[in-house]
Amino acid sequence: MSATDRPVVFRNGLVLTMDDAHTVLPGADVLVVGDRIAEVGVGLTAPEGALEIDATGGILMPGMVDTHRHMWQTAMRGYGADWTLTQYFVWYYLESGKLFRPEDVYAGNLLGAIEAIDAGVTTTVDWSHGLQTADHADAAVDALEAVPGRFVLAYGNIQQGPWEWATSPEFRDFHRRRIDGGGLAGFQMAFDVTGDPAFPERAAFEVARELGAAVTTHAGVWGATNDDGIRLMHEHGFMNPSTVYVHAATLTHDSYNRIAATGGSVSVSTESEQSAGQGYPPTWQLRHHDIPVSLSMDTSVWWSGDLFSAMRTTLGADRSREHLEAHAKQDTITHCHLRAEQVVEWATRGGARALGMDSAIGALTPGRQADVVLIKNDTSPVMFPILNPHGHVVFQAQRGDVHTVLVGGRVVKRDGRLVDIDLAAAQAKVTATIDHLRETMGEQAWQRGMNPDVPETAILENPYQYTEWDAGSAQWKH
Ligand SMILES: [Zn+2]
Repeated sequence: MSATDRPVVFRNGLVLTMDDAHTVLPGADVLVVGDRIAEVGVGLTAPEGALEIDATGGILMPGMVDTHRHMWQTAMRGYGADWTLTQYFVWYYLESGKLFRPEDVYAGNLLGAIEAIDAGVTTTVDWSHGLQTADHADAAVDALEAVPGRFVLAYGNIQQGPWEWATSPEFRDFHRRRIDGGGLAGFQMAFDVTGDPAFPERAAFEVARELGAAVTTHAGVWGATNDDGIRLMHEHGFMNPSTVYVHAATLTHDSYNRIAATGGSVSVSTESEQSAGQGYPPTWQLRHHDIPVSLSMDTSVWWSGDLFSAMRTTLGADRSREHLEAHAKQDTITHCHLRAEQVVEWATRGGARALGMDSAIGALTPGRQADVVLIKNDTSPVMFPILNPHGHVVFQAQRGDVHTVLVGGRVVKRDGRLVDIDLAAAQAKVTATIDHLRETMGEQAWQRGMNPDVPETAILENPYQYTEWDAGSAQWKH
């Protein structure tokens, strides 16, 4: 019997259930039978033959949910570390995105999928906007199906208008072949609404409605999408509770009101918004409008692909803004609104709700799917003391502390090592992709793409002069 088929019991962990009351259970067990959580509590009786995992000194939490990740870009990990959004658009949309072959989409998706489960992100939306052909789309799904995580394919294609690809026979054929009854956790349609008063995106929204697919859209992105897009979606009746607005960082209250009133949610990618320039990470606004939040990493071409970073930067950015707004009015924030506990909720339940999967994932409660993360690192000086469990997850833990991961009851990582994952094969595919791009672009373009020019810095005049104490004359020298 393989570990997959055996019941699994985690013993003596600090359990963050993330149930409605956010119940925390010290010294508790989590019992998994089949693909579901059977029981959570102290001193559970496990069925004979259960795999026992010692969670002593560790934290058990639900698998995390990332609602927006361009996984095909993972093959270019870190290449755009110094980019702005403009440089990203030039590189992917105008210059180099077309160079990606189906096998390159496969390579990026494969590595991104492995990276996700390794970091305890058990459900990921693959915001797959590099699907230039049906072959690219097949390759994207092949890679997702090769990795034992939960993946939602958000289908997109930056090389065409959504009214073109969404209405093509190839797209409908792909949907019939790979999505209806396929192995993915869900399906969305991914496209942006430009604000063109003619609203050409209507055709794509109509296809989404017909297929019962949620729409995910980069909204409120400085210089790209704005209030007009939201207004057009709303006026034409295409905003609904399943709609996911990515970033939503540069919008007015009117747009936030429309999102709140139609029940949609925002996927906040704080590391992205901070570096790329879509707008200030919007949680400080979303809190005021009571708009549901989920977290996402966007793309590994720039920054990290784990939700520990997302939780940490999101909490920091929200507090940073709250202090800044107060200081501008000569006020002092003495109590922060946003708590660590809330961002853990966003990384788990928030994502589950955004995907309409709240009854299935996002919490460690009996009957839910057994997507479980054990954070434990016996050799780390940062694993004790654990005094504030949610705070510990947000500000102290990191992906290297992810000890064991279950997806639907299947052990995909144990004792800090991925189970039955051929990382060397993934590396070979990624290397082939890099070789192809580098050769096709040429070395000069490759280097130029990675190293954008640095603008000149103007050094301000300093009205003060350096002074030092002259001990001999007992005077300040100028
Ligand atoms: Zn994005």
